[in-house]
Amino acid sequence: MSSDTQLSLFDGSSFNQQDLIPTDAKIPIPSGTYANMPELAQHCNNCRRCGLGENRTHAVVGRGNLQAKIMIIGEAPGQSEDETGLPFVGKSGQLLEKILASVNLSTEQDVYIGNINKCRPPENRVPTAEEMAACKPYLLEQIRLVDPKIILLTGATAVKGITGSKQGITKIRGQWLESEGRLCMPIFHPSYLLRNPSREKGSPKWLMWQDIQAVKAKYDEIKGEN
Ligand code: SF4
Repeated sequence: MSSDTQLSLFDGSSFNQQDLIPTDAKIPIPSGTYANMPELAQHCNNCRRCGLGENRTHAVVGRGNLQAKIMIIGEAPGQSEDETGLPFVGKSGQLLEKILASVNLSTEQDVYIGNINKCRPPENRVPTAEEMAACKPYLLEQIRLVDPKIILLTGATAVKGITGSKQGITKIRGQWLESEGRLCMPIFHPSYLLRNPSREKGSPKWLMWQDIQAVKAKYDEIKGEN
């Protein structure tokens, strides 16, 4: 059945719209569609809204505290993530854990981690604009459900996916932006730090240290207000 045919069926209410959502990117996912993360995850694991669904082992939805005040958004799953169904579990994930631990943040208590795209792109390529757009409604629902005060955007793809900005990550990292009432900070992707291991002043790792301290200070400020 084509998506146009499916859409026309909404008028007659003869189909449950929820059942149709994972089939085609033209079918909207309005805010409030999902009551909880397991419902959303079930749809992601059956999703064919873009071609990335064809080769996935698992859709990678998220991990961490579902009530966290900090949400970290990455690009898309890699091989380890596709195999386990969990985001940031390879070398990049281990480095991310260390970065968070350096300011006493834990992924189990303080953070929820998700991705722009839930399914692994072939050869770990960057998701296309269409693939990002197809998956974005799920991410917006995740943000609504977790309701974080701070969102960290790891790398240029996450920045583009959330803000639409095509600015290079080295230009905008460490700056607080506002997106729909939430504070967002672009930061380097851990995989970039793995490729640039220097700790010299001004190096990517050194800059990340400045950024994560600024995030922790803001987090403490927000916690103090509540
Ligand atoms: S990447 Fe997102 S939109 Fe594409 S098939 Fe997977 S869950 Fe669906």
